[in-house]
Amino acid sequence: MTIVHGLDQVPVCTTVAIAGGGPSGTYLALRLAAAGIDSVVLEPRAEIDHLRPRAKTTNARTMSLLAGIGLAQAIREKASLPVSYSQDVIFCTSLKGHELRRFHQAFQLVDGDYELSPEVGQQIPQPQVEEVLREAAAHSEHITYVTGVRAQEADPSASAVRVVAADDSQDAGVDLEAEWIIGADGGASRVRKALGIDFRGTSAPRPNFNVVFTSAKLREQVSIDPAVQWWIVNEAISGMIGELDRDGTWWAILQGCDPIEDPAEVAAAIRAMAGVGPDVDIEVLATDSWTARMLLADSYGGKESDRRVFLIGDAAHLNPPWGGHGFNTCISDAENLAWKLIAVHDGWADPGLLDSYEEERRPVAARMIADAAANGKALAYDFIDPLLDADNARGESVRARVHEALAVKTSEFHSEGLVLGYEYAGTSRVAAGPKPFVDSVEYRPQALPGCLLPHFRLTNGASVYPDAHGFTLFVTDGPAVHLATESLERTAREHAIPLQIVHLTGADADAARVRWGEDTVLVRPDLHIAATASTGTGGTTPDKALSSALLKAVKRPTGSSTANSHSSTQSPHATTHHREAS
Ligand SMILES: Cc1cc2nc3c(=O)[nH]c(=O)nc-3n(C[C@H](O)[C@H](O)[C@H](O)COP(=O)(O)OP(=O)(O)OC[C@H]3O[C@@H](n4cnc5c(N)ncnc54)[C@H](O)[C@@H]3O)c2cc1C
Repeated sequence: MTIVHGLDQVPVCTTVAIAGGGPSGTYLALRLAAAGIDSVVLEPRAEIDHLRPRAKTTNARTMSLLAGIGLAQAIREKASLPVSYSQDVIFCTSLKGHELRRFHQAFQLVDGDYELSPEVGQQIPQPQVEEVLREAAAHSEHITYVTGVRAQEADPSASAVRVVAADDSQDAGVDLEAEWIIGADGGASRVRKALGIDFRGTSAPRPNFNVVFTSAKLREQVSIDPAVQWWIVNEAISGMIGELDRDGTWWAILQGCDPIEDPAEVAAAIRAMAGVGPDVDIEVLATDSWTARMLLADSYGGKESDRRVFLIGDAAHLNPPWGGHGFNTCISDAENLAWKLIAVHDGWADPGLLDSYEEERRPVAARMIADAAANGKALAYDFIDPLLDADNARGESVRARVHEALAVKTSEFHSEGLVLGYEYAGTSRVAAGPKPFVDSVEYRPQALPGCLLPHFRLTNGASVYPDAHGFTLFVTDGPAVHLATESLERTAREHAIPLQIVHLTGADADAARVRWGEDTVLVRPDLHIAATASTGTGGTTPDKALSSALLKAVKRPTGSSTANSHSSTQSPHATTHHREAS
């Protein structure tokens, strides 16, 4: 086990020091460990608090990334509510009132075949996700996960983190030296402050009040269909409510509600929202008042620190939870930074590649924040009408009107355009190409540079997504296609860039051409498209164009085969190999 506790357990040096063992930091450590890179995670919390569930939505993209490090199955087994429990978000007047509108297959919860991604979404409270991540970290020989400590200061010039006891029980701290320092230490990030980077943005006008409670009788009172979130539009108290498990533990968010001190008053508010009487037991376990914040860091750290310190996750951006993008954006940050750190560490990319982390990820965070903020402008209380629950014709007409008005919430629950459609087109490490179609709701699979590779399943049922450490070139064999790959393979070899070439044949090749509209697609380790044969730049033939695109993707000058001086380690995977997929 490599989970240790206390200041005296902090090693003297490591390759990557990660301040913060929340979802971002632990995912990053696991992703680096899979490539054999050592890290030390510094985390104040010895125990994970289950009474603050925070994120519950793990979206299809995050589930696919977790599958990439072998944890999707563990997440699904850990989740108290399987996808089959419900795939719906339901707006209603109370848990035994009128249904107003239903969003089916919300958050990519699909109980069956799903074409858009290898994995469907999963509802699971964040503490359970963190447990799975911590458990995996505990079994990794490359991760030292130290609890009971926190980063106090990060010094890029010395490339060291000052670490102190989390409870301030010891006067002296220790220094942890590292090649890279990552601030994954949440919204109040010490690392961000050490770099003098500001958060900018706004806060929502009204607070919200979280409650975790148990009730033995509430479930049997519910006459509305099962839902992962019931949104209650109710004159007394509006907000959201849902089950945390099937054993009587519940969560609720009372929207626009000031903090309530007295547990009896909290229980009364829950009963009012649910529409049940005082005979229904409600035992309040925890409460938490919070205000949605829309904040984005001015910089993600690299340029302030000679590319030694980077911010990921909530340390770099804070989203309102509406739409469930916060935690998921954090994992995608970590994925983006991880492959670039691996590439630079293993010597197959120029350190300048790390500049593209902020260039690619900061606009994505801005997009998520804008969308979540827009979702927050239409909360449950915005749809209140005194006649909403009336059992008569006027009530029916009001409910019909509210049903229509609730269409505005589509982007909150069906945001595939954000979840799978975030892209890096036009940035400096992907080939030039057409501007992709962008929309929060509609996801249009597009095989364009910067976009996530459009997914489909091979005829054998497996995902087309490769299990690759490096780049992948998909070549669809067909009568019209005789693409040479010699130049690309030679370039990869000369620069020690790991590249696998996947030949799609028969029906799989046909499916790829239909899905991608391309014969040949070059994909980065994070599955975003570096170039296609028709969009590569700088060469006279598709093969040469793809070679140029490969060098551009790792920020190597065309024509140079000089090994990267940042690291003495050469990639153990730096070979080209071919694979058939059919
Ligand atoms: C009510 C609520 C509901 C939410 N719902 C959703 C949702 O449905 N879907 C979604 O995607 N997101 C949701 N979020 C957002 C989500 O919880 C965060 O985006 C996510 O936890 C961020 O992960 P992180 O690892 O970047 O930061 P954190 O989870 O904040 O982790 C940071 C870690 O750093 C540690 N730390 C703090 N200071 C230091 C230090 N000085 N040194 C070292 N370590 C330190 C902390 O102990 C913590 O473990 C919600 C948030 C809230 C508040």
